[in-house]
Amino acid sequence: MVEITKAAAKNPPFPKNYSNEFLVLDKGEGVYLYDVDGKKYLDFGSGIAVNALGYGLKGPAEIAAKQMMKVTHVSNLYTTEPTLELAYKLTTAGNFAAVHFGNSGSEANEAAIKYARLYAKRTKGEGHHKILSFNNAFHGRTLGALACTPTEKYQEPFGPLMEGTLSIPFNDTAALEKTLDESFAAVFVEPVQGEGGLEVISPDFAEKLNELCKKFDILLVADEVQTGMGRTGEFFASAGLGLTPDIITLAKPLAGGLPLSATLIPDRVNKLIKLGEHGTTFGGGPVTCAVACYMVDAIFHPVFLTKVKAKGEFLKSELEKLASEYSFLGKVKGTGLMQGVEVIGQDAEVLSGKIIKTGRDKGLLILRSGKSTLRILPPLVIEESEILEGISILKKVFKELKG
Ligand code: PMP
Repeated sequence: MVEITKAAAKNPPFPKNYSNEFLVLDKGEGVYLYDVDGKKYLDFGSGIAVNALGYGLKGPAEIAAKQMMKVTHVSNLYTTEPTLELAYKLTTAGNFAAVHFGNSGSEANEAAIKYARLYAKRTKGEGHHKILSFNNAFHGRTLGALACTPTEKYQEPFGPLMEGTLSIPFNDTAALEKTLDESFAAVFVEPVQGEGGLEVISPDFAEKLNELCKKFDILLVADEVQTGMGRTGEFFASAGLGLTPDIITLAKPLAGGLPLSATLIPDRVNKLIKLGEHGTTFGGGPVTCAVACYMVDAIFHPVFLTKVKAKGEFLKSELEKLASEYSFLGKVKGTGLMQGVEVIGQDAEVLSGKIIKTGRDKGLLILRSGKSTLRILPPLVIEESEILEGISILKKVFKELKG
């Protein structure tokens, strides 16, 4: 037995793609996390956009435990009631014919790439497999999804990548018109770029995307891994931002912190797929699906979603106040409870890192997006008083760093 002391979190046996020093967390309650020393942290990141209903919920824990006592896994030759129930809930939340369950955001997008290629090949023939994504997009780290994630740092060590992918600037309608033709199988778009600086899709760009994808029979894939499930105050963010996707992918908050993803597909795609052409071992297991049913019921409710919108407005206005007070803060971007504040100036990247680190020391967990945008996505159940508590910690951080 290895004894886990605090020293164990320094240079632990994790690959070097992770940090070499870790904060060791022990438990959570509401919007707060506690480390192994009992120190309390306000979580302005929901893990990374995962814990939509916060921490320590008894309901999902009891559902998971009860389901584990009944059955934890069945092969995909069979199904279970929770899996069926979730499939009906999600497909009817939009206009979808079917849902493929997986285990992560990358896997959900990987399935969307495969279904889009299959659809293009069977409707338009060979040579129509190209995939467009946008600069600063993030669609995952598996090789197909990575090919659609055009950031040098993520792609460079692993090439050659999947052929036929291309990226152009986000929200650039002219570039879109110049690029798209029927040789494309799919366009992948995040309604709000979660990792790429919290840029929100513009109404004109959304409209042009809808129009051109329809014109060339290209599948429009909304990657809602981060924006979906109420984060923006809509169950699907695309619905509130003028996008009409053919496919939606979901993951992070879907099963309340357990690994589950969904790729929602329309009838015209589903009817071309043949038995055995895609599949998974763990995706859509009864435990994750039972918990996800609880999550969907809690979130997909007009009262809940209206509250998220109101709290999002409150958070935005507080961040705008901050931005007007501090010269090193720039634009506030985002929508709903998915907000970002740009750190600007010559040392913006270094300063944003220091803000995150000092915030952590003072009991506030925040994330970064892009090079220097502070990303704030608290659990959707956060109260206004807790938002103010986080803002007040940020002010203390700024005072310490900038006087
Ligand atoms: N798509 C988006 C929009 C994401 O934000 C992420 C994760 N940051 C992914 C895909 C990949 O998800 P995962 O890490 O679960 O594979």
